[in-house]
Amino acid sequence: MSSTYFDTGLSFYQHTLADSFHCLGRGLHSGMKVSMTVQPGDENSGYIFRRRDVLHGNAEVVARWFSVGETTLSTTIINKLGVRVSTIEHLLAALRGCGVDNAYITLDGPEVPILDGSSLPFVRQIRQVGLTKQTVERRALVVQKPVQVADGNASVSLKPSALPRVRVDIDFDDRAIGSQSKQVVVAGRLFEQKLAGARTFGFQDDVQALQKLGYARGGSLQNSVLVDEGKVLNEGGLRFDDEFVRHKCLDAVGDMALAGPHLLASYHGQRSGHRLNNLVLRSLMAEHGAAENLSMREAMQWWQDRTGSHQAFH
Ligand SMILES: [Zn+2]
Repeated sequence: MSSTYFDTGLSFYQHTLADSFHCLGRGLHSGMKVSMTVQPGDENSGYIFRRRDVLHGNAEVVARWFSVGETTLSTTIINKLGVRVSTIEHLLAALRGCGVDNAYITLDGPEVPILDGSSLPFVRQIRQVGLTKQTVERRALVVQKPVQVADGNASVSLKPSALPRVRVDIDFDDRAIGSQSKQVVVAGRLFEQKLAGARTFGFQDDVQALQKLGYARGGSLQNSVLVDEGKVLNEGGLRFDDEFVRHKCLDAVGDMALAGPHLLASYHGQRSGHRLNNLVLRSLMAEHGAAENLSMREAMQWWQDRTGSHQAFH
């Protein structure tokens, strides 16, 4: 029997980083300079943030769906004492997308550095330090009944799937974006190849109003794709023709990592954002029998029993 889930490169065992790595940059929304270190994490610890600048009380914030406190323009996790970490989604997408189950992340400010606005700088650092296989089996959250949340014409659904899939459809009035749709299986090197480099984006017309409200204060053409009336203002243009929808898929990978175990589901977001991403996880966890927490090995067996055959990786 293979040592990976359906030969997808998703190991049956937990992995952590073989060494620490360091990032220095500004927060997209706060504009604050942040120094961040990502270190190997113990088995079963998941992703734990620690604020070095919070000297009293509990400075740890666990990156799980129940810690999400704010979802305006980014995902913010908050602990019981009100200690917060914002814009965690691009880092979490890189960790989950590269197969890192456990990591400690220490930072000296309230927001993860935005770097180039994508997950690529994190992915490069993860690949540079490499991974270490741990001895405990990896867990999977197997979605067994469809769950959906909606708000107006926006929605997110999770449906049973043998492989972790992400599909997003977006539809913007600005013709630089328009209607885009993308589906990716998040296994093997597909996250790195198809999603990691897609940058966050915004509209020139919104920048001033957002900055007045305390958002996008660290935003620049170095860390965001900026759109203005049908045009992309960044000198080098786009990294992918459909970079916008790919970034939305990347955000979904990061937000779904907050499930804890690997989410074995087909995610479908329509005009979705961080708020619905969190709501769909809350509704999945609240609904009895909607998901089952199994080892990755048991999850594969469950799928084989259900379909009666070996599901090929495609
Ligand atoms: Zn994003």
